[in-house]
Amino acid sequence: MQIGIPRAMSYYSYFPFWYGFFEDLGIEVVISDKTTKETMSRGSALVVSETCLPIKVYVGHILNLLDKGIDKIFVPSIQSIAYKIYNCSKIRGLPDLIRNVVKKDFTIIDATLDKSEKNGGLYTFLKESVKAFGITDEKRIKQASKAGWRVYNNFKIMLNSGLKFEDALKYAKKGQVVIVNSQKEYPINVAILAHNYNLFDDRVSMKIFDKLEKLDVKAFTAEQLSQEQLEEGISAMGSELYWANEYEMTGAAGHYLQDNKIDGIITINAFGCGPDSIMVEKIARMARKYNKPHLSLSVDEHTGEAGFITRIEAFTDMLFRKKRATIINKISINENKNNNQISQIKKIEIS
Ligand code: SF4
Repeated sequence: MQIGIPRAMSYYSYFPFWYGFFEDLGIEVVISDKTTKETMSRGSALVVSETCLPIKVYVGHILNLLDKGIDKIFVPSIQSIAYKIYNCSKIRGLPDLIRNVVKKDFTIIDATLDKSEKNGGLYTFLKESVKAFGITDEKRIKQASKAGWRVYNNFKIMLNSGLKFEDALKYAKKGQVVIVNSQKEYPINVAILAHNYNLFDDRVSMKIFDKLEKLDVKAFTAEQLSQEQLEEGISAMGSELYWANEYEMTGAAGHYLQDNKIDGIITINAFGCGPDSIMVEKIARMARKYNKPHLSLSVDEHTGEAGFITRIEAFTDMLFRKKRATIINKISINENKNNNQISQIKKIEIS
């Protein structure tokens, strides 16, 4: 038994759970290859040009799984992740979209997760996910879900400690937990706010983490924050939780904008994304209020690496200059204070 999982969209949030769950049931998980230029162009060729980049990438990954000969592909419809917290229409209608644009003979495993609906919870979703393999034993499904949670929780702990996405996934799949305990101090810290599928896909984010590391800049993301911190962040932004992506965008923004160790904010949004256009605009306004420099990067299939790097370099260069100026300012204020204190002492001595 084999199931294909596209290395795109919800892969970057929930794959560890699915891996643990399906493998525990004896279903071999096959993932599509990493995103390339070809993945994007093949996906783009099948959908209307206004479609956002992550969906184009997703379609490309479906084609890649079909090339591998996989005939059962997991395309979940994740409607809402909690009561009245919804995904955008493209994520919700993903199985229908794929059915209509990929005209090939294969089975779409289109389980629906809708936590706003009665009987739309996780177990209904999991039962639907394995029906095509003839697995109906509820006890067995619940037991497999525990295996899924084990892999997922270990993965989240590692990501939270600052381990890279690929490394955290590699160890979690082996049942290991490796915690990063780096003492290295960076002169500049930035927070990157983006959907996980834009952030952790190296082709879409143009390996932004490696680039910042080379520039001696430490990057923080929503993954280093707890659920409570993200919820507080959403309130700090004056937002109400509606979009499922609100945690990784406005929630993380609300937290990092108030964090003094963060020198600047980078947002990465997909061109043509409705929720992003609202959330990024709000982040930009709040960044001005908190006097935090903000770089907004928009990505589509035509985004060139050279322009992307130039903008990141110019931004970090500005952050270094700003920090230097602040430090020099502080030193001169202290010197003035010291000079004043010395002249005060002299005055006392003379009198
Ligand atoms: S949230 Fe935005 S980027 Fe993600 S699928 Fe929806 S429109 Fe596309």
